[in-house]
Amino acid sequence: MFTLENLVRKNILALTPYSCARDEFKGRQASVFIDANENPFGTPQKLNRYPDPLQEQLKARIAPLKGVPAANIFLGNGSDEAIDLVYRIFCEPRQDNVVAIAPTYGMYAVSAEINDVEYRPVLLKEDFSLDVDALLRAADTHTKVIWICSPNNPTGNALDRKGIERVIREFQGIVVVDEAYSDFCDQRPFRQDLAQYPNLIVLNTFSKLWASAAIRLGMAFASEEIISLFNKVKYPYNVNQLTQEHALRVIDDIQHINNWRAIILSERAHLLPAIAELPICKAVYPTDANFVLVRMTNADAIYHYLVDRGIVVRNRSRVQLCQNCLRITIGTPAENNQLLGALRQYKG
Ligand SMILES: *Cc1c(COP(=O)(O)O)cnc(C)c1O
Repeated sequence: MFTLENLVRKNILALTPYSCARDEFKGRQASVFIDANENPFGTPQKLNRYPDPLQEQLKARIAPLKGVPAANIFLGNGSDEAIDLVYRIFCEPRQDNVVAIAPTYGMYAVSAEINDVEYRPVLLKEDFSLDVDALLRAADTHTKVIWICSPNNPTGNALDRKGIERVIREFQGIVVVDEAYSDFCDQRPFRQDLAQYPNLIVLNTFSKLWASAAIRLGMAFASEEIISLFNKVKYPYNVNQLTQEHALRVIDDIQHINNWRAIILSERAHLLPAIAELPICKAVYPTDANFVLVRMTNADAIYHYLVDRGIVVRNRSRVQLCQNCLRITIGTPAENNQLLGALRQYKG
């Protein structure tokens, strides 16, 4: 039996959260707000007022788009806030540990270090597929969380869904599945399976397909109990008013996002074989994301050559399993052509 309380740090279970000025009158009508020491003389955008701490209007719009009830949604200052909160809620510093696939997104490890929690990376197989047995073997009685990223960054591939399901079923702690790139992937997203898995947290973000990296808005989907813990521990006004308003405008214009997805997927389909043809390219790895990992003859030299031409890609050659690899984001058609033109002219 999965019991959430057994996983939560005792100080967090016992915590009385900060009570916002507007919590008490909630649900009733009022027109004079002299409860929060704000300046009453505001701009038309009402930026003089504190924002909704639980972003209810925004969650109500995100819910149908993602197919997740509003009560199962947490919004944060980027996915990075949700990642940090997972440590602060579940992991006792210098006592608990977490397990994660490797290579993967760097913030899981950075956040572990900041929170003084042991981080146990478990290598993917040579073909970047999930090693379920190794992952489960790395966990012990102090393991609170397993981090899985699918489609994975920097490798680009979606991990085997059955394998991830096995980890969620067999591990008695929290499993986080980071699906920042699920919009580019055909696999059924895990956020649709929340009802089945009380120990599952799924991450999404406005930073990638949703074209809003600058507003810092991340999403976590989980059971209502886990969402309550997030809400208890987060900063009271963690998502600012400008961000909430911009996100509502993005959702109003969702057609734009869908068009961009189609262009990015078509560009991806053209770019991959063109890179694979280059004599300096040794492998183009299968991708389910808006980027591709490529193995080159000499990644460092090619990286600097591209920088000299004003083109920045991500050099991943010092990452385990990624020797001589570059990670390349799918750009606009013009940017992709510029990249290809430069790579074709490279003389190693
Ligand atoms: C880019 C990315 C994110 C997004 O983080 P934000 O803080 O929401 O911008 C999350 N997870 C992975 C794996 C990413 O690559």
